[in-house]
Amino acid sequence: MTDCIFCKIANGEFNTEFIYEDDNVVVFKDINPVAPVHLLAVPKKHIESLNGLNDKELITDLFFAVKQACKKLNIKEFRTVINTGKSVGQEVFHLHIHIISGRPLNWPPG
Ligand code: 5GP
Ligand code: ZN
Repeated sequence: MTDCIFCKIANGEFNTEFIYEDDNVVVFKDINPVAPVHLLAVPKKHIESLNGLNDKELITDLFFAVKQACKKLNIKEFRTVINTGKSVGQEVFHLHIHIISGRPLNWPPG
């Protein structure tokens, strides 16, 4: 999608450093981190949200990418978050998994 910031990042348009990359997924640092570690795992294909994700292989690829990025950075304790829809905090409508780590986090989230 031409107007989507995560499509542009995944296409390498901003020379973003990828913590992990394979044919289908990239992982990069969130621009506005909420913790010392805040990464985003993003499919290269434009999918608006988890509601639009029906490809089992891509689901596997996304979670594999999360694990590979954590392994690379030696992160053993972390939270993964997928916001699906405006009312629960989704702001970028290109599917992404947040990986948040490096400080204690409260539960339940607000
Ligand atoms: P959401 O609220 O949609 O679940 O999360 C969107 C996330 O994308 C936010 O944490 C926000 O800081 C991050 N973000 C928005 N624009 C950019 C950008 O241009 N680059 C990067 N690296 N992260 C972004
Ligand atoms: Zn997109």
